[in-house]
Amino acid sequence: MNHSVAIIGGGPAGLMAAEVLSQQHIKVDVYDSMSSLGRKFLMAGKSGLNLTHSEPFEKFVSRYGNRRKEIEKWLMDFTPDDLREWAHRLGVETFVGTSGRVFPKEMKASPLLRVWLKRLNEAGVRFHLKHRWIGFVNSAQGGVLAAGDGDESKVHIKFETSDGIKSIRADAVILALGGGSWARLGSDGAWVNWLKQAGVKVEALKPSNCGFDVAWSPHFRGKFNGHPIKSVVLSFASFRQQGEFIVTKEGVEGSLINAASALIRDAIEVKGEAVISLDMAPDRSHEWLFEKLSKPRGSRSMSSHLEKTVGLKGVKAGLLYEFVSKEDLLSVEKLTSSIKQLRIPLIAPRPLDEAISSAGGVTFESLNENLMIRELPGIFCAGEMLDWEAPTGGYLLTACFASGRVAGEGVLKWLIK
Ligand SMILES: Cc1cc2nc3c(=O)[nH]c(=O)nc-3n(C[C@H](O)[C@H](O)[C@H](O)COP(=O)(O)OP(=O)(O)OC[C@H]3O[C@@H](n4cnc5c(N)ncnc54)[C@H](O)[C@@H]3O)c2cc1C
Repeated sequence: MNHSVAIIGGGPAGLMAAEVLSQQHIKVDVYDSMSSLGRKFLMAGKSGLNLTHSEPFEKFVSRYGNRRKEIEKWLMDFTPDDLREWAHRLGVETFVGTSGRVFPKEMKASPLLRVWLKRLNEAGVRFHLKHRWIGFVNSAQGGVLAAGDGDESKVHIKFETSDGIKSIRADAVILALGGGSWARLGSDGAWVNWLKQAGVKVEALKPSNCGFDVAWSPHFRGKFNGHPIKSVVLSFASFRQQGEFIVTKEGVEGSLINAASALIRDAIEVKGEAVISLDMAPDRSHEWLFEKLSKPRGSRSMSSHLEKTVGLKGVKAGLLYEFVSKEDLLSVEKLTSSIKQLRIPLIAPRPLDEAISSAGGVTFESLNENLMIRELPGIFCAGEMLDWEAPTGGYLLTACFASGRVAGEGVLKWLIK
């Protein structure tokens, strides 16, 4: 029997599902609202495509936090090493960077995407661009299946196209619609409502790997917008990591902030603010700083004293003036403590659209182990639209690829049941 499967969303998750199905000679149609595929994947490649990470598997899976159990199952069947091997088979060599992160040799996503789409095309996958999925045909009647014309076992979905509304039927559908960040690249999160209307439990999409607002004084904002803050240790709750970030007009952003962003976001949600602690001289002990700062200042300004004695200047000194009272700056003990543990209040995450990825999405409780929606037999989900999050470091793409495989294989099991 010639089965047909519709995959909606041509990002890493949807394309991986298309690969699994086309290898088994299933008729696969990939639909995407944009005029080209994999836009977010291509954007990820702009700053150096971090495909995956080379750390031990145990450490790797710990990055998925409270979703580790579910995602570990996907990754057992498609490990970070399998992903590298898969890329190699596409002719894309990879290398491990100094941080252990894995990148394609060319750093970009476009060469990989180009050969991958060619291979899928040769395997018979058909692509339908500018097809925006807008829900199920019969969801108002409480169903997603075709009704009353002999096609009752097929899923019936509709698209907005340049030629008007189009409806299609398929034996199974895989939704791989992405999260809700960078909507201009195609994943706008509009699907949340359509799935909720069909009775699926979806957690609200929230920014993940995001920056935060800080109530900078106009003086600080004007002087330091765009300045990097390097070699600091950020502590917040259980998080403690050395790295760097950037001061923005609105607040802070960058790799170190992204890494702590899930914890910070959740704390702000509960308490209205989150106070991070910054060690601005992680290579110097409290005692060393205290001794140097205790030297008589004479007629020197505080800025010149800080620079001459402990080498603190520019934006780091600016942060001290921003958050430490004049009185405390004059106390060597309090000044030393502030350099080692500067408290910076973060008041809100930046909007979802600016985030690298999103948290929230279709809950795991709504899905079976094959990623089929329990309430909507024949409809599967994969990728960032599921309710999990991970830091940057290749963890996002690895899990998206792996979930696409699980959904593809899930459809195969469903079709031959
Ligand atoms: C700037 C940036 C840098 C990144 N860098 C990295 C990195 O280096 N490493 C890493 O691991 N991750 C990175 N990511 C994250 C990674 O790109 C995403 O997690 C990944 O692309 C998600 O894959 P996906 O297939 O689930 O969804 P997406 O890639 O978002 O694809 C979803 C597709 O669905 C389509 N779609 C959505 N709604 C509809 C609809 N209603 N009808 C039809 N089509 C629809 C979209 O057009 C899109 O093509 C980065 C993200 C950004 C924004």
